[in-house]
Amino acid sequence: MEKIQITIVGGGVVGCAIAWKLSKKYRDIFVFEKNPFLGDEQSGRNSGVIHAGIYYKDEPLKQRLCVRGKELLYDFCEKNNVPAFRTGKFIVAVKQKEEKFVEGYFTHAKNHGVPVEIVDEGFVKKREPNVNCRCALWSPTTGIVDSAGFLKALSKLASHNGVEFLTNTEVVDINPQSKGFLVKVKYKNGGEETFISEVVINSAGLYSDEIARKINPESSYEIIPVRGEYYYFDSSLREEIHFNGTNIYQVQKPYYIDGRKYQAIGIHLTPTFEIQKSSYKISSKVLIGPTSTPVSEKDDYSKNRSEPERFYEGVKDFFPNLEISDLNMDYAGNRAKLKIGNDFVIEKDSKYSGAINLIGIDSPGLTSCLAIAEYIQQLL
Ligand SMILES: Cc1cc2nc3c(=O)[nH]c(=O)nc-3n(C[C@H](O)[C@H](O)[C@H](O)COP(=O)(O)OP(=O)(O)OC[C@H]3O[C@@H](n4cnc5c(N)ncnc54)[C@H](O)[C@@H]3O)c2cc1C
Repeated sequence: MEKIQITIVGGGVVGCAIAWKLSKKYRDIFVFEKNPFLGDEQSGRNSGVIHAGIYYKDEPLKQRLCVRGKELLYDFCEKNNVPAFRTGKFIVAVKQKEEKFVEGYFTHAKNHGVPVEIVDEGFVKKREPNVNCRCALWSPTTGIVDSAGFLKALSKLASHNGVEFLTNTEVVDINPQSKGFLVKVKYKNGGEETFISEVVINSAGLYSDEIARKINPESSYEIIPVRGEYYYFDSSLREEIHFNGTNIYQVQKPYYIDGRKYQAIGIHLTPTFEIQKSSYKISSKVLIGPTSTPVSEKDDYSKNRSEPERFYEGVKDFFPNLEISDLNMDYAGNRAKLKIGNDFVIEKDSKYSGAINLIGIDSPGLTSCLAIAEYIQQLL
């Protein structure tokens, strides 16, 4: 039976970042991806925001990996010509009671070395004349990245170092052995193959709980898919909705699943790229979203999509000139939300130390992926 050194389950940004990082040190690395293309789940269906590290009060791993990952990501994009901009971000307080949240973000960010300022409406209007607020948190290190371009660059570098990417290949079984794991994969054409892998890295996103249970049936983690839907508008249509390309967020809002409280960063405005062959700039297309709606199926992106009113209501307090008729439906993505707990879970399986599980890698997983890869190398 064929023997390989490292199996990575899942070809999203996290699996690809780990593959690239490990390819500098290890040989025989295989990335298995069940879909026809890499990055077709969370990694290709997100806001593309490079988060600064402002929110994660009770999530120390997210906090640390986000701040480290942000710097690694900007650096990677610069060296590899991947579109990325430090667009900056405002978290606006529209109502008086929201001001204390802005102050809370300020204190938390400062305590973690993240550059932020509290600014007045005049400061906000200089950058974004059509945004209203009482005051805002200004985060100059927040930005955006072309997540598709980033994933392509990562997988190209990893391939160059010898990593094998097998798409249309689903990992269907993992059995721990006295040394390593028996891994069974199924190809799109129905064929199956089994081999021995010394190490298994589970970066299967929405399915990471199921893969963890294949490794060890006692694993109790559970992923709930939480859908984020987007609309968009064209900011060049009217002067009153002109947008210069800053990320605009409101303060966090709670939502509930089975009575459990979660925090959503809320419906926000996100700039996008206009990418030409050898250059890129901020486009007039502005994303609006995402929502936070639990769904029952991990691959359900389309049933019962929200009406534009939900998005209009979400931003009208701070972006009042937008009209419902400006809104066009865009894509949706499902977050791999942990049922219990909010922090990333990145750990060796409790029984089989050759297996590393990455579970609950929701936002800011895109921002953090290069730091996650560093962390995996340390764990190995
Ligand atoms: C709506 C939304 C908005 C977001 N916004 C941001 C943001 O602005 N900034 C940010 O930093 N993060 C954001 N995130 C989070 C970020 O997208 C994720 O944290 C990141 O993409 C996770 O990458 P991943 O590789 O772990 O997971 P995924 O991209 O989900 O990849 C996992 C892969 O595993 C594959 N797989 C699963 N099971 C198997 C199997 N049995 N065999 C083979 N392959 C398998 C899947 O097909 C999938 O391709 C957002 C996420 C969503 C959904």
